[in-house]
Amino acid sequence: MKIVVLDGYALNPGDLSWKGIEEFGDITVYDRTKFETQEILSRIQNAEVVFTNKTPLSTEVLEQCEALKYIGVLATGYNVVDVDTAKKQGIIVANVPAYSTHAVAQFTMALLLEMCHQVGDHNQSVHEGHWAKSLDFSYWNSPLIELQGKTFGVIGFGRIGQAVAKLVQAFGLHILVYSRTRKPEIESETCEFVELNTLLECSDFISLHCPLFESTIGIINKSNISKMKTGVKIINTSRGGLIVETDLAEALNSGKVSAAAVDVVSEEPIKPNNPLLQAKNCIITPHIAWAPIEARARLMDITVKNLEAFFKGHPVNVVNS
Ligand code: NAD
Repeated sequence: MKIVVLDGYALNPGDLSWKGIEEFGDITVYDRTKFETQEILSRIQNAEVVFTNKTPLSTEVLEQCEALKYIGVLATGYNVVDVDTAKKQGIIVANVPAYSTHAVAQFTMALLLEMCHQVGDHNQSVHEGHWAKSLDFSYWNSPLIELQGKTFGVIGFGRIGQAVAKLVQAFGLHILVYSRTRKPEIESETCEFVELNTLLECSDFISLHCPLFESTIGIINKSNISKMKTGVKIINTSRGGLIVETDLAEALNSGKVSAAAVDVVSEEPIKPNNPLLQAKNCIITPHIAWAPIEARARLMDITVKNLEAFFKGHPVNVVNS
């Protein structure tokens, strides 16, 4: 059994083991594969099992992989695989749902608190000697913000959105939710489902947790930003394409949006000319919310269990059934 991992480095830069997959056949792990048909084909043409994280498996590629029986996506989002073609060819595609819910919710808190206290900047300022030279016992370089009593808008109330809501409730924030499906059982005095416009108009913080669908592409745009409170803060740990980055950069520079914190951008790795890089008060992290070792170990574990279930004849987490 020939097994190929096309881009294993992000999941396992060396602190995890591929042993669980090795049990099932001859495995070749590439750290990365160029997103070019020829290179992809040269690596997987005779493989029966292929794993990909972000390397695209297009119709053109899949149609030339006659031996291929199973594609394991090393992530939750599986848009890199042409699942319809895979289905036509009888190839099972399985993903790994929900491995990073707690990690992403926790990271959203890191961004929220960073926007409120600028811990990184203050630490750097102290190390640069500014506290030692200060006339007072305390100083701050940017406004410090208490969360209690403020309003936190959550767009997309699935696994991560709900985990975030639980965490922010502990800070005494009032939560407004806009999601495709209303969940009355979760509504309470401190967590209300509202229309998108109400969320935009009333929130002090807006956090994005919906998937990137046709209906959500560019949901944070000039028109929706104009409905927001002046001084609103925006967090995006979901997908870069949810934000029209030129519109957000303009709103940050004008002060309409007082801060943003994004873990994801429209094109990754980020392009040097991404307008958010030059915008005021914009914290950017390199798509790391999913990546604590606990979450990656869970991802590896579920990946192995998915493969085992496939070989036993009852595949699970199939996305193209
Ligand atoms: P989920 O499927 O459990 O929840 C998504 C929610 O969005 C659902 O409640 C759905 O009803 C809602 N939704 C769908 N369309 C909508 C629309 N048009 N408007 C408003 N709400 C809509 O997904 P999840 O596990 O909570 O993950 C959310 C997103 O987080 C993923 O799609 C992914 O893009 C992102 N993510 C990022 C990282 C990271 O490392 N930064 C890691 C994992 C997931």
